[in-house]
Amino acid sequence: MAEHYKPVKYKQWELTLEERFQEYHPPLTDREAVLEANRCLYCHDAPCMVACPTHIDIPTFIKKIATENTKGSARTILQANLLGATCSRVCPVEELCEGACVLEHEHKPIIIGRLQRYAMDYAASKKLKFFHPGKPNGYKVAVVGTGPAGLSCAGELAKLGFDVTCYEKKEMAGGLDTYGIVVFREPVEVSLSEVRMIQDMGVKIKTNTTIGVDVTMEELIENNDAVFVGVGLGSVPDMSIPGETLPGVVDGLEFIEETKVRKLNEITFGQRVVIIGAGNTGIDCATIARRLGSERVTIVYRRSEAEMPAYHFEYQFALGEGVTFMFMIQPVEVVGEGKVEGLKCVRMDLGEPDQSGRRRPVRASGAEEFVLPCDMVIKAIGQKKHTEMFSKLAEHGVKTTSNGYIAVDFETNRTDNPKVYAGGDCIRSKGEASTVSAVQDGKIAAAAIHQQLTGTPSPNEKHIEPVLSPVMK
Ligand SMILES: Cc1cc2nc3c(=O)[nH]c(=O)nc-3n(C[C@H](O)[C@H](O)[C@H](O)COP(=O)(O)OP(=O)(O)OC[C@H]3O[C@@H](n4cnc5c(N)ncnc54)[C@H](O)[C@@H]3O)c2cc1C
Ligand code: SF4
Repeated sequence: MAEHYKPVKYKQWELTLEERFQEYHPPLTDREAVLEANRCLYCHDAPCMVACPTHIDIPTFIKKIATENTKGSARTILQANLLGATCSRVCPVEELCEGACVLEHEHKPIIIGRLQRYAMDYAASKKLKFFHPGKPNGYKVAVVGTGPAGLSCAGELAKLGFDVTCYEKKEMAGGLDTYGIVVFREPVEVSLSEVRMIQDMGVKIKTNTTIGVDVTMEELIENNDAVFVGVGLGSVPDMSIPGETLPGVVDGLEFIEETKVRKLNEITFGQRVVIIGAGNTGIDCATIARRLGSERVTIVYRRSEAEMPAYHFEYQFALGEGVTFMFMIQPVEVVGEGKVEGLKCVRMDLGEPDQSGRRRPVRASGAEEFVLPCDMVIKAIGQKKHTEMFSKLAEHGVKTTSNGYIAVDFETNRTDNPKVYAGGDCIRSKGEASTVSAVQDGKIAAAAIHQQLTGTPSPNEKHIEPVLSPVMK
């Protein structure tokens, strides 16, 4: 097969492999943090706080950094968001708090995410503990899945005195924070230290335990006063094209997971990698491949640049890493003798809008197929839903939406079974899935469970008017 490519030189390769996978943003120094905090106008009705899905009291935590009360700052963050350390690293701040900052238009927005990380890193380095288990109230809750939705729900319930047990099918807790967020954005240790914080609050976590295999959903519903389902989404679906099972075709989530759980020099990667899909998973796979040492990385996407699901800053980041994008291209076959040698593709046009409101890609008239030479194909075309579990839940009256997510009342995150609540990616039938939304889902469900079982509103529920929880130190 003809090969017409030139390796793209890349500054990261001057670093060691380990250095390339260090956190991308260095931490702020004390001086930088205080100087930046002093730029904040401490706005009344702060738009940054409204834009944060968990409504962290941003002006207050920044003010505390400015006055060198970093412990107090960390407490303010965690009161609203128990996963403040993860969110400070992974939140699309340009679209949320920083995008809403009043200084965005005239000058530069306050770097809220990095200030939050500064406070969270301080709390972690000093091993500070802010919460105790609440006074036991006699109620038992099971949480399925320990991603941000499950951990947030579990932690908020523990503060209120519930007896909470989380069930997690993987070896380590933390969901995608532990296994899916690219390591140079969030090291595994950050996620695991949040897991430990939730355990210190009295939450029991049973890992290597799959609901539906090791424990049934029936047992959970019967033996608990409430069940929260935060199972996220599953693996990458099949593309249903010939050659998909050839060695060298890999699942994007598994590729990312390797960099989080294995030694970097043990990871297999191609020199010419083609990634199918231009969402955040695709971008992460592309940047990982470049940093591992792939000479040529190309993302193919069947729609146009405007429809690309990845965040704009991620797209810019990937371009800066030397990743090539090919839009309006549909793969039709993986070709090769016993291993991947190329991806056969065809050019697309955009037709009428589909269910998602985006214009449906259709094969361009007269378009001929062509082959992109490569030695690795990474599938990053979204995630499957846990349909088997959802049909089990349906036997207990839990309904799903027309596009296959768990249906909930968004005020409470309660399903059609009054004992079962859900949150996170498994209910995100529309809108963007994100860590911070999953955290908020867990909070909403915890408050509703408290209200339903005890008949009183949750003192943790602060919304925008902060109220100190009685269990806070
Ligand atoms: C590659 C990638 C990169 C991303 N990057 C970002 C980012 O930069 N910023 C951002 O805000 N968001 C990002 N997201 C989205 C974000 O990670 C998710 O929205 C968030 O993790 C959803 O949380 P969750 O708790 O619903 O699910 P998950 O984090 O998926 O956790 C679900 C948990 O449930 C467990 N589970 C599943 N089934 C069972 C079962 N039967 N029994 C027991 N346990 C079970 C799983 O093992 C898992 O631990 C990214 C997503 C991906 C895939
Ligand atoms: S909007 Fe900007 S300036 Fe105002 S409180 Fe928030 S971070 Fe500070």
